[in-house]
Amino acid sequence: TPTIVWVRRDLRLSDHAALTAAVARGGPVIPVFLRDHTVDALGAAPKWRLERGLATFIEALEEKGARLILRAGPAQEVIPELVRQTGAGAVYWQRAYDPASVERDTEVKSRLKQAGIEAESFAGHLLFEPWSVETKQGAYYKVYSPFWRAVKDREVPEPVAAPSDIRAPGQWPESAALEDWALGAAMNRGAEVLARHVSAGEAAAQARLGTFMRDGVADYGEMRDRLDVAGTSRMSEYLSLGEISPARCWHAGLRAQAEGKKGAGKFLAELAWREFAYHLMWHTPHILEDNWREEWRAFPWKEDRRLREVRLWEQARTGMEVVDAALREMYVTGYMHNRARMIVASYLTKHLMVHWRIGQAWFDDCLVDWDPAANAMGWQWVAGCGPDAAPYFRVFNPETQAEKFDPKGAYRRKWIAEGQARPPQTALDYFDAVPRSWGLVRSEPYPEPVVSAKEGREAALAAYEDRDF
Ligand code: FAD
Repeated sequence: TPTIVWVRRDLRLSDHAALTAAVARGGPVIPVFLRDHTVDALGAAPKWRLERGLATFIEALEEKGARLILRAGPAQEVIPELVRQTGAGAVYWQRAYDPASVERDTEVKSRLKQAGIEAESFAGHLLFEPWSVETKQGAYYKVYSPFWRAVKDREVPEPVAAPSDIRAPGQWPESAALEDWALGAAMNRGAEVLARHVSAGEAAAQARLGTFMRDGVADYGEMRDRLDVAGTSRMSEYLSLGEISPARCWHAGLRAQAEGKKGAGKFLAELAWREFAYHLMWHTPHILEDNWREEWRAFPWKEDRRLREVRLWEQARTGMEVVDAALREMYVTGYMHNRARMIVASYLTKHLMVHWRIGQAWFDDCLVDWDPAANAMGWQWVAGCGPDAAPYFRVFNPETQAEKFDPKGAYRRKWIAEGQARPPQTALDYFDAVPRSWGLVRSEPYPEPVVSAKEGREAALAAYEDRDF
């Protein structure tokens, strides 16, 4: 009987445990992707990126003589229906760990089992299953360093090659057309600009990993914090959609380490931050939407999206150059440098005293590497309300951060056109990308800061000192 491989955020052919198992089971393999509530809930940029990822994945499957069947609706109904239509005897998939997916998958599994269909989920999105990492007392980790010590020497299976052949069924079931879903439609702004900066798919992911391992990883330790240098791997958008497996990145890191490339250890440790984010989301799913530390629920964050300071922050016109440069980078490319993420998040939650959830939601809408666990953990880390968080009184000073990590101002000039006689294309792209409704005029002078570095810091610290944490 055929095996259905339910593809989710794992748009790859190699190192895909569910696909490998389906091929090994013998019989035809029917890959399917569902547009369900978890897809509909995505922000504009992640949804647009998903469409590109799916288009590329469809081509990759076609090269193997296979197809991707597209269906829409609740998985609990659509998957069993597809089983009936195809006479499939098994449904395989790789696990997701966010609460909405877990609930859905549990129900699908039990329905299939009731109907006598083999239903099996596999690991693959992570290196270490979140429940497999425990403290000596059998608890989960709230702090990264001991988590890292617990996982760093674990055996990670080598990535498995793509199947050479995927047997097609005699007849393919009906499929929706990707264009009809119009997943990119919510990108009612600058999709063409964004397209210049994004390359989707497994081949692109592996090529970029190769380049980074050859040219970047040795200096990663020193360069990863520099805003003006392309010093990081840029694996995040591929990892987010599973166009590359974390195990492939991990083994590339191990090999680089064995070759004596200095930054490789740091790269492995960063991959483990992604694991830690999933570990936290699995054990404390409220991290996605509420202050992880309960006492923070009383903190006087502002939480109204219509506030002027929120609008200026989202529109990258706070008047604080490094903050605006970073927010423009995200708007234009769907990506933001990690150090910049910390700087803009600190400015929003501390200088402007706006709730981290507002920033998180903006990132949800704008990032092509959007990841529920990493985004939530990142925001709560900076805001100070997360586990193992930066203390609230550690307020990033955007000016000194810029001096240190963008010493010659190249990053700021790359993204801020105002004040430059001949701004680079990247800075001009911002004006092409933003919606007309923002009423941005290129010739307007650069704005004064909403809140200066000093005032913002003082106000934030005063609010913090008022509370007894
Ligand atoms: P590299 O430095 O090359 O790191 C390699 C990989 O390690 C990354 O691709 C990523 O998978 C992982 N990694 C590195 N740093 C972190 C981290 N701090 N947390 C979790 N994983 C990490 N990352 C996302 O993938 N999606 C998000 O939505 C996201 N939102 C964030 C929001 C905030 C406020 C902050 C502070 C961080 C966020 N991060 C997020 C983490 C980090 O900024 C990005 O993973 C990183 O910038 C991606 O660039 P890179 O692939 O070149 O990273």
